[in-house]
Amino acid sequence: MDHIETLCVQAGYTPKNGEPRQLPIIQSTTFKFTSSQEMGQLFDLEKVGYFYSRLQNPTCDTVAAKICQLEGGTAAMLTGSGQAASFLSVFNICTAGGHIICSAEIYGGTYNLFAHTMRNMGIETTFLPVNPSDAEFDAAFRPNTKLVFAETLSNPSLSVVDIERYADLAHRHGCPLIIDNTFATPVNCRPFEWGADIVTHSTTKYMDGHGAAVGGVVVDSGNFDWTKYPDRFPGLTQADETYHGVVYPERFGKGGAYITKMVAQLMRDLGCVQSPVSAYILNLGLESLHLRMQRHCDNARTIAEYLDNHPKVDYVNCPMLPGNRYHSLANKYMPNGTCGVIGLGVTGGRDAAERFLNALTHCHIATHVSDAHSCVLHPASATHRQMNDAELKAAGINPEYVRLSVGIENVQDILADLEQALSTA
Ligand SMILES: *Cc1c(COP(=O)(O)O)cnc(C)c1O
Repeated sequence: MDHIETLCVQAGYTPKNGEPRQLPIIQSTTFKFTSSQEMGQLFDLEKVGYFYSRLQNPTCDTVAAKICQLEGGTAAMLTGSGQAASFLSVFNICTAGGHIICSAEIYGGTYNLFAHTMRNMGIETTFLPVNPSDAEFDAAFRPNTKLVFAETLSNPSLSVVDIERYADLAHRHGCPLIIDNTFATPVNCRPFEWGADIVTHSTTKYMDGHGAAVGGVVVDSGNFDWTKYPDRFPGLTQADETYHGVVYPERFGKGGAYITKMVAQLMRDLGCVQSPVSAYILNLGLESLHLRMQRHCDNARTIAEYLDNHPKVDYVNCPMLPGNRYHSLANKYMPNGTCGVIGLGVTGGRDAAERFLNALTHCHIATHVSDAHSCVLHPASATHRQMNDAELKAAGINPEYVRLSVGIENVQDILADLEQALSTA
């Protein structure tokens, strides 16, 4: 197999003689046929092809195929956002009456989705500490548990999940493991190699890498055998009457069943597709993902080491630092580096952190993370500004905590900006 750097550039789109070198944007809602019989076969899933871009579009599928290869999966589907990817990845195998187990340290949007919106849909979630004991883990499983969900590297707390252990425990209970691999990207970690069954991404972050297009993706490893648990996963083992009784694993195999069902049912009915133009932009980002991730990590490591020794910084949160509590797990799963996002506690509390942010010039204040520009966020005065210091503490957010998403600029320029801003804090 080609190396990951080559896949970033070349996977997915392979032009034939005389065809465009760059991925064509097929900006068309619909596709023309000369026989209605042929179109009927597409509707019945008897033939592969395109007929309406709410289900499938060639530009989007090509980019999904690239990400599928990057992760080492068997099938993938782009979605309109990372939120849509998280939702579809779960709802495809867990509907009303189902239960899921999720790591408590996850992206706030995923927490809201699981704890509130999906609960309103009749799906219950148990949130566990990041790396629970076997006993805690085993006790969380119920007869209606359908899956386990976690982030490789959590946003924003930067905890590292022991993927191999999570996969073993989930499999022991007949459940697949879904990993949100947004922060690590397949350049730094490939969860399927550690036993994860399904991977999701917000492609809005490093994959796009330029803050240009919102998007998501779901990738299947093809390893989970749904037919072994017909009672737990009836949607994948019983006939789908909306397609004349198709049984997905029978028609599409272990490698194709999960994603085909997701496209054929959930995209058909929910329509949270990515636009072909966004997929094109995403593909441009992917072509340099390997170079950018390396620079993000190099810059973040240098800056974390500098901040760790700075008198105006109380603490630094970066799993690449030897003193970090997730350092050994980070070395196991992300030996080349984690990502560009780090955290720091500014000496002097909430006011000092605010003064520090206001003094920065190169680093932009933004709610975004994980793109080429360095950017900062002070949760206490932005995303969590309605909370007082005691409430912040209860939510696990320190008033002096600043999240820094280190970009790919020259590291000396970022360091100089941090130095002058810390001197005012
Ligand atoms: C941003 C993010 C999401 C949500 O993605 P959107 O593209 O913003 O919908 C999900 N998971 C993680 C880890 C994220 O950082």
